[in-house]
Amino acid sequence: MQTGIQNSFSFSQSKERTNTLVNSLSVGVLLQGPETGIFFCNKAASAILGLAEAEICRRSAYSPDWEICHEDGSPFAPEENPSAVAIRTKKAVSNVVMGVWRPATDDRVWLQVHAEPLLDPEGRVIEVISSFMDISEHRAAREKLAWLYQNLEMRAFEIAATNADLEKFVYAATHDLQEPLRLISSFVQLLKKKYEHQLDDQAHEYINYAVEGAKRMKRLILDLLEYSKFTGRGMILVPTDMNKIMEEVQRTVAKQLKEANASLILHPLPEALVHPALIAQLFENLIDNALKYRSDKIPSVEISCKEEEGKWQFSVKDNGIGIETGYSEKIFDLFQRLHNNGIYEGTGAGLAICKKIVQLHRGDIWVTSEPGQGSTFIFTIPAIQAMSYEKI
Ligand code: ADP
Repeated sequence: MQTGIQNSFSFSQSKERTNTLVNSLSVGVLLQGPETGIFFCNKAASAILGLAEAEICRRSAYSPDWEICHEDGSPFAPEENPSAVAIRTKKAVSNVVMGVWRPATDDRVWLQVHAEPLLDPEGRVIEVISSFMDISEHRAAREKLAWLYQNLEMRAFEIAATNADLEKFVYAATHDLQEPLRLISSFVQLLKKKYEHQLDDQAHEYINYAVEGAKRMKRLILDLLEYSKFTGRGMILVPTDMNKIMEEVQRTVAKQLKEANASLILHPLPEALVHPALIAQLFENLIDNALKYRSDKIPSVEISCKEEEGKWQFSVKDNGIGIETGYSEKIFDLFQRLHNNGIYEGTGAGLAICKKIVQLHRGDIWVTSEPGQGSTFIFTIPAIQAMSYEKI
């Protein structure tokens, strides 16, 4: 028993259904015989080519009237046309990109064309079915993307060149500044030594200021030099057990911890993709500060990590003097200090270096704090799973 709607259709109904189907497609469809011109086109073909059915059916698919070009703008020879190739080779031709001139709108439409020959039992071509999609928008988007990418590359190149210039400048400036500074410092000291007994108290006081100023300037220059070294050039990130890093850091800060009678509480840390030496330095700087800016409580530093939104979030928490609200961003800028020079040694480069290290790892750093209660420095690193390391 035969069932199904098509079986109850007459031939003319079936033809009508095929027409409806072909006309409802969003791809253009053309039918052409090997010796004749195009004898059928669907609605999408008319719309895409901007021509009425009668205008299309006057031509063959490879008529020179079409004004077709390749992607590079060179003209498409009629014999290269997918329909002509399908007739000649008796094989399907796929994904040919061609630009077709539309006289109605005076523009070029980009088509992706497929041509399929229909053969009779003797292997002769009866007709060719050509179907095509309008890929103009897709092509324009691709061209724009390529243009943007090229611009981006150019900008990246310019930025890299500017950065390299700046790095050279800082390096040269800091180097060159050291020499005159050494001169000032040693001649002021000589002055003090030679005329010690001829100078009154005030002159001694002034000389001391000058010596201290020179010393401080030297520290600033050295810190600037240190800061300028963090360029990330040639930096290789490796999967690292952060617990191992902390063991090393613990050994480095052991003396300071002992002197401050401080405790270091370590929670289990994950494996992360880092530059081990830089990350160790980051932890050392933060622990250094936690001990330096301690309150009258017994200092305690606690290090932990959690995963949040695809990032490892490391925390270094202390119970020190804390940071006044409103300064939590400023302290990460170079040479920005909140606390008095006289009490706390330093130049204000430590946290700027921390920020640079975190940025080189594509992370963020910030602080939360309650004055008098302590501070928690938090930094993030993308949590890349071990399986994807080799993709980087
Ligand atoms: P430095 O310690 O040399 O001043 P940093 O860049 O390390 O430089 O720190 C900048 C400023 O941030 C410090 O001068 C201090 O005022 C503040 N600070 C940093 N760490 C802490 C901390 N753990 N507790 C309180 N204040 C801090």
